[in-house]
Amino acid sequence: MNLLLLDEGDFSAPGRVELRDRRLRHAQRVLRVAAGDRLRVGLVGGRRGSGEVLRIDDQGLELAITLDAEPPPKLPLTLILALPRPKVLRRVLQAVTSLGAARIYLIHAYRVEKSYWQSPFLEPAALENQLRLGLEQAGDTLLPQLELRRRFRPFVEDELPALAAGSSALVADPRGEEPCPRGLSGEVTLVVGPEGGFIPFELELLEQAGGRPVHLGERILRVETALPALVGRVC
Ligand code: SAH
Repeated sequence: MNLLLLDEGDFSAPGRVELRDRRLRHAQRVLRVAAGDRLRVGLVGGRRGSGEVLRIDDQGLELAITLDAEPPPKLPLTLILALPRPKVLRRVLQAVTSLGAARIYLIHAYRVEKSYWQSPFLEPAALENQLRLGLEQAGDTLLPQLELRRRFRPFVEDELPALAAGSSALVADPRGEEPCPRGLSGEVTLVVGPEGGFIPFELELLEQAGGRPVHLGERILRVETALPALVGRVC
């Protein structure tokens, strides 16, 4: 945790918070903080700054808060990701949040197992928790916009054309003809397939919606490997 995330509800008075949850335990066991120390803090949806430890004991962590800096800018990136299995989803959400993706769509595809959509990890609080871990890692305070689309075709036909328009819209596909471009300026819409890949019909619909199939070379990568490589290359 490189930044302690605060919510409005944590404030006991203006400029004062008292924490009793996992953040207290983290401060005690991992950061081993003592009175007088300064921690990096940030208000979810707001600014970041520092918290001076006024008191720390088993009952709570009391901080004097100064919020004097803006969070780092987001990448102009909309990521559209076929829903991976729950374990991978958690890692990937944290990773792309820490990289700074502004918007994330989790979509269905033929090779996404239907049961993944029933996972408790897709409950809003569980998803937000992963996003927060990504923010804490990166020293950010702004949650990316996260959207779930349980039907592939209506999303690709009705929503994707508008997202693709005005951006570089890329579909990551190991068999794409064009190498993935580097260092794009401006908005990027990036579509990444499921672990089994998109089926040809899906690739056709994605292309009709404005997505250019691009590859990272002939090696077929896991989603969690392909994603940071793609983001690092295009943004
Ligand atoms: N078995 C699938 C591979 C899927 S890998 C197939 O052969 O198509 C999961 C996703 O990661 C892919 O849908 C693609 O979006 C991305 N990906 C993996 N390796 C890639 C590469 N070399 N180039 C571009 N995208 C890649």
